[in-house]
Amino acid sequence: MDRVDCAGRPVMDEPKAATPCAVCGCRQLHPLLELAAVPVHCNRLWPTRQAALAAPRGALHLVDCPDCGHIGNSAFVPQWLDYQGGYENSLHFSPLFQDYALALARYLVEKYQLRGRHILEIGCGKGDFLRLLAQLGQNLGTGFDPSWEPGRNQQENLDFVADLFTPERAAGLQPDFVCCRQVLEHLPDPVAFLGGLRLALEGRPVPVFFEVPNAAHTISAAGIWDLIYEHPSFFSAHSLTEAFTRAGFRVLAVQEAFAGQYLWIEALAAGGGDVPSPVLPDRPSLERFASQFASRLELWRQRLGALERRQGRAVIWGAGSKGVTFLNLVGGRAITHAVDLNPYKQGKYLPGTGQRVIAPEELPVQAPDLVLVMNPIYRREIVAHLERLGLQPAVETL
Ligand SMILES: [Zn+2]
Repeated sequence: MDRVDCAGRPVMDEPKAATPCAVCGCRQLHPLLELAAVPVHCNRLWPTRQAALAAPRGALHLVDCPDCGHIGNSAFVPQWLDYQGGYENSLHFSPLFQDYALALARYLVEKYQLRGRHILEIGCGKGDFLRLLAQLGQNLGTGFDPSWEPGRNQQENLDFVADLFTPERAAGLQPDFVCCRQVLEHLPDPVAFLGGLRLALEGRPVPVFFEVPNAAHTISAAGIWDLIYEHPSFFSAHSLTEAFTRAGFRVLAVQEAFAGQYLWIEALAAGGGDVPSPVLPDRPSLERFASQFASRLELWRQRLGALERRQGRAVIWGAGSKGVTFLNLVGGRAITHAVDLNPYKQGKYLPGTGQRVIAPEELPVQAPDLVLVMNPIYRREIVAHLERLGLQPAVETL
């Protein structure tokens, strides 16, 4: 495959040295991995198979920074991304994810005494988490997200703005707490964004909580399906701390969550104090990553090729980023559908490869021989669901 632009035209390679590290500005970045063409939006599903197959694609040129441990995509073109209508990434239909979100909301409400306060959520998606925070502490909430849809979680104490958040907007809002989950890794200049946010909080020591995918987990678990175009940044605990410190925040804590898949950072919009100093990502693991990537990819291509020759049928469970990356890299005709609990995804088609998303209840008709679990953390929930449906396909976890 050649590299192509979002209209499918081949594009020339750009010199990688031109893109410095998005966190610390280092220009001596190490090439880590290149992928020719993955869908620009993993979470934009399409109304027809034909439209899904023509979904725009972009290249990943992953580079890692020896100074701060950050991983970035030097081929990223921010103008290609658009999070308006049709962008659906809610995970709140999974009981396991609901439990995780509830535990996180309780933790934040207790730790920061969020009762009768005003909470700002940047990139609130459809508003599920903001509603939870508001409920638990009788708080007021303001949520920004271009993909929010009228009616989703709409209630009296919540105010939604279906638009991108800009730091200047925080000034007039005077929030008591800022929360932002799975957003920072989408931004082309995360340090400038954080710096703007801190300034807009007017020097008040407002606590902020951010959650991002954990690049160290992607590297150590060879989580190659975590690599998506929407993320120009892959943060390690070290680079996340560095980004907040450079933006003038006082970092209180950085920790792993969701079985190591996520990082949480808590900080105050005020400088000073001791800063945690997480270790840099392990260089030998980074150097092994590209070869592990290639061998995992080859293994799955062979296994699905063998299934196809036996005329077997497989489905993936999880029509999110991991599933879309997996299908676009591995390909093959054996995988006929994608299963997802989110009713807003069902009936639509996956970008790049065009499988239709179905509800679990449709599985008995499809009678798959193999169910591929896209995220190991959901395996038990999925196996229980298959048992309730009276199905006994082989179940494998990526
Ligand atoms: Zn760096």
